[in-house]
Amino acid sequence: MLKAFNCDFHIHTCLSPCAELDMHPRAIVEKALEVKLDIIAICDHNSSENAPYVIKAAQGKNLKVFPGIEITTSEEAHIIAIFDSLSDQARMQKLIYERLIGINDEDRFGVQAVVNEKGEVEGINEKLLIGAANISLNDLLSRVHEYNGIAIAAHIDRESFSVLSQLGFIDKGTPFDALEVTSMMGIGQARIEYPELEDYSFITSSDAHYLKDIGTALTKIMIEEPTLAELKMAFARQNGRRILEQ
Ligand SMILES: [Zn+2]
Ligand SMILES: [Zn+2]
Repeated sequence: MLKAFNCDFHIHTCLSPCAELDMHPRAIVEKALEVKLDIIAICDHNSSENAPYVIKAAQGKNLKVFPGIEITTSEEAHIIAIFDSLSDQARMQKLIYERLIGINDEDRFGVQAVVNEKGEVEGINEKLLIGAANISLNDLLSRVHEYNGIAIAAHIDRESFSVLSQLGFIDKGTPFDALEVTSMMGIGQARIEYPELEDYSFITSSDAHYLKDIGTALTKIMIEEPTLAELKMAFARQNGRRILEQ
């Protein structure tokens, strides 16, 4: 039976240089439950090292956590990639790390902490996660799909680091599974703003970098169960699965 799930597919952790250190796995899970989310995806900049710990922190709780990455392409556009399994995500992670150069400047960008489900620091990531990976948008989209993932153009209404800000347009045939808009825009307004993108599914997410932001934007999706296969059907508007846009 289909039912509505509250989803936020764009949540950072303390691994992202620009996110607060309070964004550790257990705290994220507690906050997500408090604001009645059913499904979240963990998407740090160019990295996924905290995702396994958020999944562990959610074990036995009424919250589905998908591993994801917010990848910066060579065009400096942010793309959300969400995977079914940690092994698929690990393949993407390997590719991105091979294409990412530079060392993080903690004073300038912030600390990138890997923290486990108990709140213990496992290590500090020293890569320049805020940088762009040397992979083009088209190449990235093929890889995400090859690794069984879904690809969402992040915050397309933002004036920087979005596909629209960087390229100026979204070609109709570009195989995005969905387009994300910020909570400032919302899906209803996006439909008015972007009539040329009517064939795409839209979502809205919190893009939370602070605990208080989790739950400030969510997408309601009609699916049977919280699996990536069901989400793929909803984004493709198949078998009654769909995004509730109002
Ligand atoms: Zn972004
Ligand atoms: Zn983000």
